[in-house]
This record gives sequence, structure tokens and C-alpha cells, in this order.
Amino acid sequence: MNEEQKWFSKDAGDVLKELDTEKSQGLSEEEAKRRLEHYGKNELPEEDKEPLLKKVAKHFNDVLIYVLLAAAVITGILGHYIDTAVIAVVAIVNAAIGYFQENKAEKALAGIKKMLSLFANVRRDGDRTEVAATDVVVGDIVLLNAGDKVPADVRLLKAENLNVEESPLTGESTTVEKHTYALDSETVLADRKNMAFSGTSIASGSGVGIVTATGEDTEIGKINQSIAEVEDLQTPLIKQTSQFGKMVAIAIVGFSVLMYIFGLLFRDYPLGELLLYVIGIAVAAIPEGLPAILSIILAIGVQNMAGRNAIVRNLPSVETLGSVSIIGSDKTGTLTKNEMTVTSVVTSEREYDVSGTGYVPEGDILYKDEVVRTEEDPTLKDLLLSVKTCNDASLKKDEEGRWDIKGDPTEGCLLTLAAKADIPVASPDVEAKIPFDSSYKYMATLVDATEEKVIYIKGAPDRIFDMVDQEGFKKPKWEQLMKTHAKKGERVIGVAMKKVSKETTSIDHGDLDDGVMFLGLVGIVDPPREEAMAAVKACNQAGIQVKMITGDHVDTASAIGYQLGIGDGRHALEGKEIDTMSDDELVKAANEYDVFARTTPQHKLRLVQAFQQNDKTCAMTGDGVNDAPALKRADVGVAMGIKGTEVAKEASEMVLVDDNFKTIVNAVEEGRRVYDNLKKTILFILPTNAAEAFLITAAIFLGIMMPLTPVQILWVNMVSSVTVSLALAFEQLDKGAMTRPPRPPNTPLLSGYYIFRIIFVALLIGGGTLAMNLSMIDQGYDQAIVNTVTLNTIVITQMFHLFNCRSELEFAFNKDFFSNKAVFVVSGLLILLQLFITYVPFMNTIFETEPLQAGYWLFPIIMGAIVFIVVEIEKVITKQVVNNKRYKRKEGST
Ligand code: ADP
Ligand code: MG
Repeated sequence: MNEEQKWFSKDAGDVLKELDTEKSQGLSEEEAKRRLEHYGKNELPEEDKEPLLKKVAKHFNDVLIYVLLAAAVITGILGHYIDTAVIAVVAIVNAAIGYFQENKAEKALAGIKKMLSLFANVRRDGDRTEVAATDVVVGDIVLLNAGDKVPADVRLLKAENLNVEESPLTGESTTVEKHTYALDSETVLADRKNMAFSGTSIASGSGVGIVTATGEDTEIGKINQSIAEVEDLQTPLIKQTSQFGKMVAIAIVGFSVLMYIFGLLFRDYPLGELLLYVIGIAVAAIPEGLPAILSIILAIGVQNMAGRNAIVRNLPSVETLGSVSIIGSDKTGTLTKNEMTVTSVVTSEREYDVSGTGYVPEGDILYKDEVVRTEEDPTLKDLLLSVKTCNDASLKKDEEGRWDIKGDPTEGCLLTLAAKADIPVASPDVEAKIPFDSSYKYMATLVDATEEKVIYIKGAPDRIFDMVDQEGFKKPKWEQLMKTHAKKGERVIGVAMKKVSKETTSIDHGDLDDGVMFLGLVGIVDPPREEAMAAVKACNQAGIQVKMITGDHVDTASAIGYQLGIGDGRHALEGKEIDTMSDDELVKAANEYDVFARTTPQHKLRLVQAFQQNDKTCAMTGDGVNDAPALKRADVGVAMGIKGTEVAKEASEMVLVDDNFKTIVNAVEEGRRVYDNLKKTILFILPTNAAEAFLITAAIFLGIMMPLTPVQILWVNMVSSVTVSLALAFEQLDKGAMTRPPRPPNTPLLSGYYIFRIIFVALLIGGGTLAMNLSMIDQGYDQAIVNTVTLNTIVITQMFHLFNCRSELEFAFNKDFFSNKAVFVVSGLLILLQLFITYVPFMNTIFETEPLQAGYWLFPIIMGAIVFIVVEIEKVITKQVVNNKRYKRKEGST
């Protein structure tokens, strides 16, 4: 096969012949396999990886690391080579942790991306099948529908109102209408309207095409521009912390210089030693491990969410999820089961019941409890033919012998209905169609009948009523009938047909007017998901509003909403009312109403904006192409994994593997857990750094010997911060996390209370250690002993303090005390590490420590216990104050 072929200039038939395929059959599986082996997978080479060296070097480019490296140089000049080595090692280890953490986060995201890999609908051996987009080969017959990504370059064989969004290729954001005629061989890329190109997406309509190029041979492959977007690994919180870290570092350097001058003027330390102390301050105060730890906690959160069926497409969304205060959800399939069953059919003649549930075509169409003979009611016969013909779904037994549908469940259940008739319903060939779209809410197909051609139409009853042009059609009567069914929560579909002349070959929206005859209504039940009711309740408790936004009829929507606990069963806002509202009016209405019915995707976008105007952080679900703007606009766009289109998935931050509303609520819960743990980690780490800095500053002021050397400080920071605080990543959800209101967006990283708590604990640990130091010096202990005891005191106190930090304000010994094993493992590890640095000879040399007699361990343990108890008491008091405030606020507001 020649790659430079100009397929667009050839007739469709020739293309088929040359590529050796048949339109109605497609390739055989064997042939497809053979071609796949021969030509390779349909994928672009991975984009150039950043060179390893550059990737590692990046992690040294950090103010904190600069300070460390400067410290290493200075200690080197002073001849303290062990210090130099240790500081250098810490800087390297730190950069390595940063590197591995970034790698891990990237891998986690890449793994998750794989879960989202693209699929393509192709015809193989005459059957429509779904294959991985990477397995598409030249010659495959591809079926394209609105919302699909085009998997390869394709010469179109059929294009029905097919509009393609080609911006990834051409940069133009308008859509291009496609056709199938051969074009002049000089036609430029942008004008090759009989081709659909890999990486572009179908905006509307449908089409069939034959693959002419895959992988690198495609147009997008030639310009070698990867369509994969770069995901942001930085979250608002991480950005805030790294900025905070930089500020701290600069402040520390400034402060160290001042301390140095102070020491020079007022104290008589030897110059080199003073420099070393000042370096100690700098090293002490810098929270080296913090940024890496925060990213790891987020990455763990992403993996947890994936385990709970929510695929988060980027790290920042984990944080945003925790602050979601409003969820706008689709009804069909998300809040309901999407297992549709037709239970009633109404024609002008009679009202029928239908027995049986699910897609199994067992059951009957009944009239007054008798199985009906279709021949008796010609309208019923036409209606059945119409719903079966005007249908893109398929009903089949799967390998295990279960009846299953492919395609839209609303259409699948209509196939089941037709199969329940006493005589087989015909299935004529469809010549043209207008596919269903939730912005106009109907579908139509053109078929060739014996004497004339017929257009079969089905759709939202109100849309069908407007089209009908038939003598004796009593619209009010039918509207009443529809309402009766809708009020029971049934999804109602109107069915109609129109006879047209033999010459008709295509249909358009304009053709659906004069001469449209009404056939009847079909009532479908789609029961609410049981777990959705509980999830809605959980949202109410967590201060999250749930809004149902559906294309269904008001009465259906209100009835189902009421069953789920959304809305009062009476008040619902309709799309056409939204149209008459100004933005300001909508902002008000968006707050008042919980159910929005007969909406289009455009309404969804306006609603998201209205919610955000009300200062809400908004999660919004969607599945179709038209939902993309609303999904993009929402703070957390949520796409359906099963029924969602590729375009919707790409526009969203999160994808639901199971299309289930409950999964959104789970993800919000996980988001809150992660955010809480991030905060706890900060609350845990910062006081240690502050305490050490305090200790050394105080020592210089008092003119006493240094309680810790720079390398000892580094040990404390690495050991306690990095190992211990990681345990907090595994902390369970706080008891009250889903009963308190969502965190307002823009909450600063350090609230007033946090600043207080950090200073309070820093003074407690620093002050306590200082007092202990002073008394030991008083008693004339050797410096190495004093230092070793100080070192152990700070680390062991941190270990105790870890138990304080497991919950922000709850009592530490609550019933979840044993819920997080990591805390205990890490505590054990910490004790081992301390024994190691205290008793192993070579560690004694490196870190200038001294083996201690058992009695000395009392100091750290007593200090730890005191800090633990004081902080617990402080928590109780703070909780009381917070509760009082809340109580007063409530009193004030009522
Ligand atoms: P939702 O998915 O929110 O329930 P849709 O916009 O998909 O809303 O559907 C709106 C209305 O359009 C339904 O109430 C039904 O009457 C009609 N409808 C839904 N699916 C189809 C379809 N495949 N063909 C024809 N009409 C449909
Ligand atoms: Mg729908």
C-alpha cells in the first residue's frame, strides 16, 4: 500500500477495492490481525522524555537546596568535612526523594490514563465490534458517532450531517461539515471534506469510513504533534506550600545573618563555630521534606479514588474535590439504574400494559390482561415498527446466554418491546437518519417501504406533538395522557411517522413538519439506584447541595427526584423558563430549585455559571459532546465512563468508571480525607522546624554551647518529618469529615488557629528542651551527652506529637486509635533509628553522638508525654471555643 496515495481524490468504491475491504462486512478478524502485525499498532511514538540528568537536576534548583549547598561549602571551608558530607548527602537524598516522588506521581497518572484508553467502533466479519483504538488497521471500516474521537485517518463512505471538530489538526475551532464525494487531487488538507482525520472529534451527526492511514502515517502523525495534553502536577496547596517554603528560606537566611552579627558583637564564640551555629539555624528551620510529602499524599489519594471507581485525570482535582459544595447530576443512568423497561404503550385506540422486566424479550403486550393481537390495532403495528426501525441499539444474547443491549438503554428497551409482540416486527433497511441529540431530543430514520418511503420518528413527546400535522389530533388529550405517565416517574417517548415521496434520499430537521402522523406514547420505567438515595442523604449531611439536571419531562423528573430525596416532588424549573431568565434571575433560581427538567446542554453551562456565582465549588456530570463546555467550566467536570463520549471525558477532570452518582460522593469524601491529611502533615512538620530554630537562637542569645550540631538537626528533620509524617497519608477519614460543611474555596493554607498551634507547639517543644538543656549544662554534663539527649528528646517528642496530629481537634484515644497501622509501624521504625544513632559506633562518629545509659531515656519520654498531654488539653479547649462560636453564630442568624 502506497503511503502517498491521495485517497480523497478517489471514489469510495475504488478506495474499498484498493484497500481490499467490503463496506458491509469490514475486514475479517484474521486479516485485521495480520495487518496489525505487519504495519504495527495505531499509535504515535511517545513524546521525547526529558533527559534523566535534566530531570534530576531540576530538583536541585530550589532555594531550600541552595541554602543546604551553601552550608555544605561553608562547613567544608571550615574543615568540618563530616558535616560537609552529611549536608551534601541530605541535599542529594532530598533531590532524589523529589525525583522519585515526581516519577511515582507521573506513573500513577500514566497508569490511570491507560484505564482511559480510547476505543473505536469497527465492522469486522460483518459485525459491529469495539476494539482498542491502537488495534485499528488500514482497511478497517470505522463507525463514527457524535462524541467519538476519530481513531485514524479515514476516507468517508457515508456522512449523515457529519460535523467534525478539527482544531487539533488545523487550529480552527469551527466544525467542518463532511461529505463523501471524490475531490480534486490538488485539494489542501483543510478542504478534504471527504476525510476524517485521526485525533479530531465528531461534533454531531454520524458516518462510516474506511481507514487509510494509521499511527505515524496519519496527518497528525506527520506533523508529529502529540495530542496528549500535559497534566499539571502542581496543586493549589502545593503551590502555596512551595511559595511559603521559599519565603521561609529567605526569611531564615536574613535572620541567620542577623544572628551572626549579633554573635560577633555580643558573644565571644570562635568565628568558625559561630558560623556553624548560624548554619544550624538555617538548616533547622527549613522544612526540607514537606513538598515531596504533600505530593505523595496526593498521589496516594488519586490511587485510592481509582480503586473506588473514580478516575481523577490530574492531581489538583483531588484537592478541589474536597471543597465541592454543589453537585449537578444527570438523572438517567447516574441517579437511576439505566435499566429501562417499557411498561405501557398508548395509541389512539387503546392503552396497553407490557409485562416482563429488563431486556429479556419475555413478556407480552396486554390489553385488559389479555395478550393483544397486533393485527387488531394497525397503529400499534406501525408504532412497533417505528420504534424498532428508528433505533441505533442492538439486542443480543451474550456469551453467557444473558440478554444484553448495545447502545442507548432508552432505545434498547424499545427493541425488547418490539420483540414482545405476538408477531415478528419487520426490520427494513435504513437509508438516512437524524441521530438522537439531547439538544433537539428526537430521532428520525428514512426507510423504503413498498409504495412510498417513510420517515419514522421518536422523541420527547412535546417535541413530537409540535411536529404532528394530522386531522383530529387532540393535543390537549395527549398532553394529559403523557402527564399521567410522567407523574408516575415514567420516561415517556412519543412516536410518529411521515410518508414521503419515492425520490427522497436524505432527511433534515426541516422535513419533519407537514404530514407527520402521531402513533402513540411509550412509557418506560427506570428505577432510581438504591445507593443513590443514601448518597444524596450523605451529601445533605456534608452540606453539599445536589441538583438534578435532566432532559426528561418535568413530571418524570420531579417524581424520580422526590423518590431520591432531591426536591419536593412539585417544584422544578424547566429549560424553557431558564431561557426567559436573565443571568441574575438564574443565579437566584439556581439556588431555589433542586430539579431542572427538559434542559439542553446549553442550560447546563448557564447553570454551572449560576452555581459558581453563588460562590459554590461545582461538580457537574455530563456525557455528550454538547456537555463539554459545561464540564470544562465546572470546577470538577465529571464524565461518564460507560455512556460518556470521548469528548466529554477529555473535557472533564474526573471519569466515573461505573456512571454512578454514589462514586462522585465517594470521591468527594476521599478528597476531604486527602485535604485533611495534607493539613495535618503541615501541622505536624512545621512546629519541629520552628522548635529547633528556637532552640539554637535561644542558645546564641544565652551564649551557651549548642544543643544540636547542624548534622544532628538534619537527622532530626529527615527522620521525623519524612518517615513519620508519611504515616499521616494513611490516616482514615475524620469522624466528622462528612458532617461538616465544605471548606470554602480560597481558604488560606495557614488559618489563624494553625499559626497559633504551630507557634504554641514549637515553644512547648523548644522551650521544654531548652530548659532541660540548661539544667544539664548546669549539672556539668559532657556536650556529646547533652546533644544526644536533646536529639532523642526532639525525635521522641515528635513521635508523641504525631498522635496529637492524627486528628485536628478530636481526642487522640478515640475508637479509631488503631485504624491506621502505618502510624505504629513508623513509630517503631523511629525508635530503631534512634537506637541506631545512639549506640552504633560509626554513627557516633558521624553524628557526634554518645551511647546513653538507660536512665537518660527518661528525659525524652517525659518530654514527649508532657507535650502530648498539653496539646490534647489545648485541643479540648479549642474545640469548646469553636463550638461556642458556632453556637453563637447560629443564634445570631435565627
Ligand atoms: P436525560 O438523559 O437527562 O434523561 P435526554 O436529553 O437524553 O435526557 O432525553 C430527553 C427526552 O428525550 C427523554 O425524556 C425522551 O423522551 C427522549 N429521548 C431520550 N432518548 C431518546 C432516543 N434515543 N430517541 C428518541 N428520544 C429519546
Ligand atoms: Mg440521555
